[in-house]
Amino acid sequence: MAARHDLTTDPRLQEELLQARRGTAFFARKLNELTDAELDGGTLLPDWNRRHVIAHVGYNARAIARLVEWAATGVETPMYPSAEARNQEINFGATLSPIALRNLFDHSAVHLSVEWRDLPEANWANEVRTAQGRNVLATETVWMRTREVWIHSIDLANGATFNDIPTTVLERLLGDITSAWKTRGTDTGLLIKVTNTAGNGTDLTLGDTTATDPTIITGPLPAVVEWATGRGRNGIAALGAATATVPAAPTWI
Ligand code: ZN
Repeated sequence: MAARHDLTTDPRLQEELLQARRGTAFFARKLNELTDAELDGGTLLPDWNRRHVIAHVGYNARAIARLVEWAATGVETPMYPSAEARNQEINFGATLSPIALRNLFDHSAVHLSVEWRDLPEANWANEVRTAQGRNVLATETVWMRTREVWIHSIDLANGATFNDIPTTVLERLLGDITSAWKTRGTDTGLLIKVTNTAGNGTDLTLGDTTATDPTIITGPLPAVVEWATGRGRNGIAALGAATATVPAAPTWI
C-alpha cells in the first residue's frame, strides 16, 4: 500500500523535498495566472514560448520520476533516450491544447511527488545517472527538480522574480553555477561578491578568488543569481580594472 507521508525520515532531505514542492506550487500558481491565450506569449528563453517552458517542466518531472523509479527498482531507466528525443518531446508538447498542457504539468508533478514519497529510506542512497551523464545519488533528484521549477517560473515572464526564490535555494544555485564555471575554467578573472542587503543569508565570495586584478560582480543575492543564470543585469555592479559595464555571465548549462 502506498504511504501517506514521505518514507524518508532524514530531516535534511525532508526540508529539500519541501523546497521542491514549494517551487512546484509556485510554478503552478504562475501558470494558473496565465489565460489560455497567454500561453502563446514569449519567455526569458530565446527560442521558447510559454508552451515550450510548460511542456519542458512537465516532461522534466516525468524524466526525474524515471530516475526515482530507477533508484526504487534497480532497473536502469534514463531521463531521456537522447538529447534529440528530449527536444522533440518539448516541441511536440508545445503544440498540445491548453488543457492538455496544464494537465501534463499537474499530473507529472503529482506523479513525481508520489515517487519521492514512496521511495524507501535506503534507496535514496542508490546511484542514478542524469541526462548530462553525471552519476548522482537519488537524493540529488530533489535538487535537480527544485532548480527547474523555481527558475522556469521566472522564465514564464508573468511576474515572478528571483526575489521569490528562497535564500537557501539561491545560495545553492549560485554554488552550482560558479563551480560549473570553475570546472570549465570560464571564471578566470571573475570574482563574485554577494552583499547581504536583505539581512537574511550571508555575504558570499565566489568565483576566481585567486585573481590579482579581477572584475568584481557585486549585488544582492537574487540579482547576482539572475545575472549568473543569464537572465538579466539589474541590481548588480561591476568593479575593478577596466570595467565600466557588467559583462555577460559565462554560460552555465
Ligand atoms: Zn529546464
